[in-house]
Amino acid sequence: MASRTYTLPALEYDYKYLEPYMSEEQLTIHHQKHHQAYVSGANALLEKLDKAHTDGSDVDVKAICKELSWQIGGHMLHSLFWLNLKIEEAPASGELAAKLNADFGNLDQFKKEFTKAAVGVEGSGWAALALCPMTDRLLIMQIEKHNVNVFPGYPILLVLDVFEHAYYIDYKNDRAKYVDAFWNICGWGAAATRLAQAQNALKAMDSR
Ligand code: MN
Repeated sequence: MASRTYTLPALEYDYKYLEPYMSEEQLTIHHQKHHQAYVSGANALLEKLDKAHTDGSDVDVKAICKELSWQIGGHMLHSLFWLNLKIEEAPASGELAAKLNADFGNLDQFKKEFTKAAVGVEGSGWAALALCPMTDRLLIMQIEKHNVNVFPGYPILLVLDVFEHAYYIDYKNDRAKYVDAFWNICGWGAAATRLAQAQNALKAMDSR
């Protein structure tokens, strides 16, 4: 049975694995401190809700909904992010490459647009590649914070964290340099797997 609370996922690699593009220190703090904070924050809110549902105490529903969206968004996006980091992986091939070519013209054009989305996020946020379940198109989301400008229900294939906490140790305030380095650790295989999963899930829904 699924856990009733959130858990920080272990990384599938050691903290040095993404060097020199992402340092051991940067990745360790990002995973153990920043990601953990969203997990702990979300669980604290669940505890507050559970307590209220047990003892009937009053809850500020509006405030809790807003904060839960922030904490859960942070947890879900970081969990995807760790999975789509891989050192020097060959560029997209197969169905993912075909779709990137069809929907963006070519791979370089996709990388250019994704880079612009990431560099241009106002304040803190994410660039994400998602599949539109209605048109079968790949679309880029420029997510502000963890939860603004999200297309609801679009499966996310690839994300890039551009909160300053993701790069301040390695790149100081130079977000563009960090985004440029990301292309050396972009896990195309994980994106291809998620695309296949999303398309299969959509096919299964269609055939119902
Ligand atoms: Mn982060």
